[in-house]
Amino acid sequence: MALIDLRSDTVTKPTLAMKEAMMEAQVGDDVFQEDSTVIALEQKTADYFGMEAGIFCPSGTMTNQIAIRLHTQPQSEVICDEKSHIYLYEGGGIAYNSLSSVRLLQGDRGRLNAEMIADQINNPDDIHAAVTSLVSLENTVNKGGGCFYDIKDIKAISSLCKTHNLPLHLDGARVFNALVSSGDNPKDYGQYFDTISICLSKGLGCPVGSVLLGSESTIKKARRIRKVLGGGMRQVGFLAAAGIYALDHHINRLVEDHIRARLLGEALQSQSFVEYVLPVDTNIVIFRLSDKQLATDFVAKLQKHGVLAVPFGKHDVRFVTHLDFNDAQLAQTLTVLKSAV
Ligand SMILES: *Cc1c(COP(=O)(O)O)cnc(C)c1O
Repeated sequence: MALIDLRSDTVTKPTLAMKEAMMEAQVGDDVFQEDSTVIALEQKTADYFGMEAGIFCPSGTMTNQIAIRLHTQPQSEVICDEKSHIYLYEGGGIAYNSLSSVRLLQGDRGRLNAEMIADQINNPDDIHAAVTSLVSLENTVNKGGGCFYDIKDIKAISSLCKTHNLPLHLDGARVFNALVSSGDNPKDYGQYFDTISICLSKGLGCPVGSVLLGSESTIKKARRIRKVLGGGMRQVGFLAAAGIYALDHHINRLVEDHIRARLLGEALQSQSFVEYVLPVDTNIVIFRLSDKQLATDFVAKLQKHGVLAVPFGKHDVRFVTHLDFNDAQLAQTLTVLKSAV
């Protein structure tokens, strides 16, 4: 029996149609900015959010790290939630790449609001304090169970940042999941954020790739930083073509992932081995095991029944639904959850 892989939405394989689009791509040397497919992808993503420019990168870690480097100087401080990917899962990159520290806030499942940020901006005239240089939000919040922001909160944070002359970055690895669920206009995001990082390799189902979006001048600076981080790629239009294909065909279908995630969440809710399930807002399901059962033990047991998940804390387990998880696999997973484990 084939394994059902719910570890992440990064495990998807390109579809036949995506592979065809990739093989037909026009390519050139992208470090010379001569790859027309990469240029088309960068423009398409920028237009989608109503921003001026974009830069294609190998990973979301790189687009986030470039953004942080763009907006900070050594001795800066970045305001973000304690659950942020930029803090938890990017290898200490804020310190290593940007010589900056973090001010960690405790938001609502990883979501910040303007009031809590306002209290944490350092006085720029106080030489004891690091210079607050950037506010970074994540949407959806991975560690918060895929929850998303109310656009009103983003708007309020954006105006606070403008008042304090602070740039605002979005780690939008799963921003398309947020947009599909909220119905918000992506162009509003383009207004509120100075830079946006999006991932093509998550829900959109591409094998590789992220894009950092911003103004022309910001993205011009980003090219220099991408180069020094080793992210200048050559005939990479083959990968950009997958991104263009995904933007055209794989955004609206995210609704299906959200429905399947909700059904998983509902099934888990009534199981005795579950203490609670975080509300399922998009494609991520995080649940706490009852009776102090270890997540590693539970995940090993699930694997014996053909379902892969990741431990997400000592007693927490995460499922992520995606393009390669269909209704038959959902039914099989529900059977395993209801009877086998
Ligand atoms: C996956 C992810 C990233 C980027 O990860 P890469 O594996 O480097 O592409 C950034 N932020 C969040 C919230 C993510 O889930």
